Amino acid sequence: MWAVQPPKILPMLRLPAGKGAQGDGEQNGCECYIIIILQIIAIANYCIMVHNQTMRASSVTSLVLQALEKSQARHLTAQELYEQVRQQLPAVNPSTVYRTLDRLVQAGRVSISDMGTGAAVYQVITGGIHHHLVCQGCRRVFEIDHEDVAAFFARIKISRHFQVATNHLVLFGICEDCSRKLE
Ligand SMILES: [Zn+2]
Ligand SMILES: [Zn+2]
Repeated sequence: MWAVQPPKILPMLRLPAGKGAQGDGEQNGCECYIIIILQIIAIANYCIMVHNQTMRASSVTSLVLQALEKSQARHLTAQELYEQVRQQLPAVNPSTVYRTLDRLVQAGRVSISDMGTGAAVYQVITGGIHHHLVCQGCRRVFEIDHEDVAAFFARIKISRHFQVATNHLVLFGICEDCSRKLE
């Protein structure tokens, strides 16, 4: 998972073949100390790199969630989220943002929807869930409360023994204004 490879363990305490611990023990002891110190430095560097990577991953997660929370009224695409995270972390890789989004979706903290705009959009799942009506005439998006579809979900559960997990439903149709224009 980590891009950082752990340091190779050096043969720090292996003495040369045919030589005992005694005799030239002083020189071997000195070499051993240097190798041990190098080993400690390598392990410390590895720990620092892993720590930095963990910090970067957690800051990407919090920046993605912050961007989604700020933009509740208009849901964002993965590209738009990457652009927002990049403003705070200029060196961030797009794939890191996309992987973070996938992880948040898997964990149920964020939902992904097709709202007919050509690219999937992401929503943060907070206390109350909501759904949408999307007009195919004027492309306007209307928000509807969960109560409006809860009865339908409950009926599905009773009649089909199917627990609906959809937490951001998008229904396409024609709005009132566009219907009037069509008359
Ligand atoms: Zn929504
Ligand atoms: Zn319309």
